[in-house]
Amino acid sequence: MSHRIVVLGAGYAGLSAAKRLARNLRRNDVTVTLVNASDRFVERVRLHQLAAGQRLAVLPLRQQLSGTPVRLVVGRVTAIDTTARTVCMGDEQRVMVYDTLVYAAGSQARLDEVPGAAEHAHAVASPEQATRLRHRIAEIESGGTVAVVGAGLTGLETASELAESHPGLHVRLFTDADDVGSRLAPRGRTHLRRALDRLGVSIHPKTVVMSVRDNGVDTLDGRAFAADAVVWSTGFRVPDLAREAGFATDDGGRILVDATLRSVSHPEVYAVGDAAAGASVSGEPSRMSCQAALPMGRGVADVVAARLTGRESGPVRIGYVFTNISLGRRDGVVQFTRADDRPRRFVLTGRAAAAFKEAVVRSTVRSGLRGEKHRSTRGGQP
Ligand SMILES: Cc1cc2nc3c(=O)[nH]c(=O)nc-3n(C[C@H](O)[C@H](O)[C@H](O)COP(=O)(O)OP(=O)(O)OC[C@H]3O[C@@H](n4cnc5c(N)ncnc54)[C@H](O)[C@@H]3O)c2cc1C
Repeated sequence: MSHRIVVLGAGYAGLSAAKRLARNLRRNDVTVTLVNASDRFVERVRLHQLAAGQRLAVLPLRQQLSGTPVRLVVGRVTAIDTTARTVCMGDEQRVMVYDTLVYAAGSQARLDEVPGAAEHAHAVASPEQATRLRHRIAEIESGGTVAVVGAGLTGLETASELAESHPGLHVRLFTDADDVGSRLAPRGRTHLRRALDRLGVSIHPKTVVMSVRDNGVDTLDGRAFAADAVVWSTGFRVPDLAREAGFATDDGGRILVDATLRSVSHPEVYAVGDAAAGASVSGEPSRMSCQAALPMGRGVADVVAARLTGRESGPVRIGYVFTNISLGRRDGVVQFTRADDRPRRFVLTGRAAAAFKEAVVRSTVRSGLRGEKHRSTRGGQP
């Protein structure tokens, strides 16, 4: 009987893994099935653009998979039985057996962090959330306020994109940190502050948002800020599926893997992308990013193919090349980094940075997701 590989999740990590697995193992008795909640590939790195009112390209997964032997199953996996080695989609009827599972279920917004966020806040972590925010923004009259909570990369991109596309709105950006862009070299940080200033974004550093209301936010120091929409953007959390299945996870629920991305508790399971706590070059757990997801997806395909054909595989190297921040469509900061994610001195800013980021995002879909042979497993994605 053929060896059944199931890849759970067709994001950056899962789609590239499935395609590369199919190619690596074409001549072997192996089936590769990709299960995904929707029939489209979601360019998550563009969801702040969707929220701001821009159109995004529709990328059907069947088109992405055409010419490959990968079988696509559309459905949401609700449980994994590690004894029977099955993934179950909603009801007992839709069950798939695996011999090897590649878990690539990605991440979601952290709307459970403070009271009121789940009920009242918006997010940009999924297309549904970004679309809901887009509709809300369209309802707000000129002079209205949008509060973005969290000034990590997604918060910065969302605040700038909304401010650029809706100049009549006042965007407030809240962060508990002392400043924005702390991971950038000084020139990048200065450019970032100037760009936010030019876009009219008010920055509220050292401000901890404690709760969200239907018309604003309350902060730890007792202040209340009115807002017509609140965007919760304090980072991502992973779904509970992996923990519920019994895989060894870190405190945040990301699957613990060895240097070959194999689960430390279940050797027939591998984990990639946001869902996995892979060790990056610095020794730190991989950052939730495309930069980590793509090399993990390709790397796991090489590891699994090697093991199934009787070879041993080396570690998958998760290194970084740059941090790429869009500040609207005409501005940005590209911070070049060492493989361990520490900033180098070199920074690209302004229109050149915006064009650079756009080119990288496009080429990720055009070539990066093909799962083709890569020269290095280092990042270099958006
Ligand atoms: C607005 C925004 C901007 C970003 N900008 C950048 C950036 O500039 N650079 C960068 O490196 N990163 C960026 N990121 C982060 C990046 O998008 C993620 O790190 C990346 O998407 C992770 O890839 P992944 O394959 O692990 O997961 P995902 O891309 O989230 O894919 C997971 C897939 O699994 C599917 N899935 C989940 N659960 C199930 C289930 N139970 N059953 C079936 N299918 C399921 C989902 O539908 C999805 O298709 C950004 C994210 C956002 C939201």
